[in-house]
Amino acid sequence: FAPWDDPAQKPLIQFKNVTKRFGDFTAIDNLTLDIYAQEFFALLGPSGCGKTTLMRMLGGFETPTEGRIFLDGVDIVPVPPNERPVNMMFQSYALFPHLTVWENIAFGLKRSDMPRDQIGDRVEKMLKLTQLDKFAKRKPHQISGGQRQRVALARSLAKAPKLLLLDEPLGALDKKLRNETQFELMDIQESTGTTFVIVTHDQEEAMTVASRVAVMVDGQLAQVATPDQIYEAPTTTYVADFIGDVNLIAGKSSLTDGGMDVHWDDNQPAIHVTTNSPLSARTACHFAIRPEKVSISAEKPDAVNVMKGKIIDIAYLGNISTYHVEIAAGVIFKAQATNTRRLSRRTYTWEDEVYLSWTDTAGVVLTE
Ligand code: ATP
Repeated sequence: FAPWDDPAQKPLIQFKNVTKRFGDFTAIDNLTLDIYAQEFFALLGPSGCGKTTLMRMLGGFETPTEGRIFLDGVDIVPVPPNERPVNMMFQSYALFPHLTVWENIAFGLKRSDMPRDQIGDRVEKMLKLTQLDKFAKRKPHQISGGQRQRVALARSLAKAPKLLLLDEPLGALDKKLRNETQFELMDIQESTGTTFVIVTHDQEEAMTVASRVAVMVDGQLAQVATPDQIYEAPTTTYVADFIGDVNLIAGKSSLTDGGMDVHWDDNQPAIHVTTNSPLSARTACHFAIRPEKVSISAEKPDAVNVMKGKIIDIAYLGNISTYHVEIAAGVIFKAQATNTRRLSRRTYTWEDEVYLSWTDTAGVVLTE
């Protein structure tokens, strides 16, 4: 199910020209954004870009200075947090230490107008969903960090909110548990159909769990797209550089048949790119290409784009190595190659003269 494939799909959340100021500081700057029902949506960006502020406005803990926020077509700005069909799971989990897992999950339901006999069924369902059945009678200090995280999740889903906000939900877990828990989160999101909005610093996490990602910078949206679009087709140099590793090279464009050339150094051949971008000739631009799209070889290959250089650095990463290749004075290109030979740490070594090559569809031309 991919809601963005269906243009008729109504958005669950709509931010319309939302601005949030704290004194004269603008934390959110005239932001417009739709989030669809049943999406797993990630807000990603550097510290201070406004992710948490945006999420707190959804929860009702901050009020926009300007603009409106709609949930199912209803303006929720005047609606207090506890009357919104929205729940928020905090990083600290905030579990009650003296209550059992069962009682922690039931807590919010008991304070609602849900009939008593339904509460038990609902808690049991949440315990199953989060695979906590065996731990129902334990107190928070008698379970692991990952299990506590699941209790917090079960509790925040118990009232079946339309929207669940997750603020760095896996921040307290170690890397391995974090990776496992990402898949659990995805399963739970899919089986409940609840719309999840996650705030994270961790780009890998955003790319793993989310169906769409918003990259934010300075209170604005730099790009909103699926993880693969963000990675393969970033629209600005900021996004290209923020997500993953990238080679960026500044130059000027000229139009060719079916594409363009990027002229970056008078003594070097231009880079050929097939592109639909409506750039005019002689525009200042950047060519962006991921290191794994750049092939490295000892012999000159027959390819559209070929550059010769010298290896000046190697990062050994186990399955792959990243080679830093100087292609012109002070211009370093990174290329990745798989390490296939057993017990051989690398295929090439320092000072090797090598050829870098790539196809004309492997990179993109960016003007911002
Ligand atoms: P982080 O990843 O570090 O949590 P963030 O992207 O979530 O960052 P926000 O917490 O949304 O960032 O903050 C955005 C900006 O607004 C920051 O510069 C922050 O200092 C400022 N800000 C947030 N809340 C307030 C407040 N109550 N008063 C004044 N400034 C605030």
